[in-house]
Amino acid sequence: MAERHTVQKDIIYAVLCELANHPTADMVYEQVQLTHPSVSKATVYRVLGRMAEQGSILRLPMSDGADHFDHQTHPHYHVYCEECGRVADVIMPELGNLCAAVTDSCGYELTGYRVLFKGRCPDCRK
Ligand SMILES: [Zn+2]
Ligand SMILES: [Zn+2]
Repeated sequence: MAERHTVQKDIIYAVLCELANHPTADMVYEQVQLTHPSVSKATVYRVLGRMAEQGSILRLPMSDGADHFDHQTHPHYHVYCEECGRVADVIMPELGNLCAAVTDSCGYELTGYRVLFKGRCPDCRK
């Protein structure tokens, strides 16, 4: 049983790397189906969720719509196309410790921040 889970995890992770475009769980599932039709959608969601919790992949929550996933876990920023929902990497220097710059945090202990740019991708601008 454990072995089967590892195999499914490997398949799903390989597809995530292969797509390399910050896919949603549904997009990963559709791609997995092409080669491994026995892997269920629930399994894809569960495996992606677990890998994100473990820090082996990134979960990118969007303000609207489904979460996207990223096989690249180094700190980097993303831009979201408000028309087609595509997510891409943004090349820019790291912002440094923004939490340290927050002075009025209402008593919160800050643990991090999330940066998501929004706009229209090159295809949608055509
Ligand atoms: Zn677009
Ligand atoms: Zn990324």
